[in-house]
Amino acid sequence: MIQKALKFLLPKDLFQKIEHESRKWFIKCPSCGFSRSYWEAGGVRVAFDFSKRKVIFGRCPQCKELKLFKVTRKD
Ligand SMILES: [Zn+2]
Repeated sequence: MIQKALKFLLPKDLFQKIEHESRKWFIKCPSCGFSRSYWEAGGVRVAFDFSKRKVIFGRCPQCKELKLFKVTRKD
């Protein structure tokens, strides 16, 4: 939802930059080890937001539990 809104609102090259950056960030379930990129999980990594938060709250698509997901960056 937020991704569609941004795509509509932002210039194309800026949107691609945000998408590219968001794909470097991964979330990992502490219970089952399931992981995927933050972008694929529907998130958008925004610098001022993520510099403070290293975890996000959500439901794991694999084990279906509500968890605090660790957020890590891969280059
Ligand atoms: Zn899980």
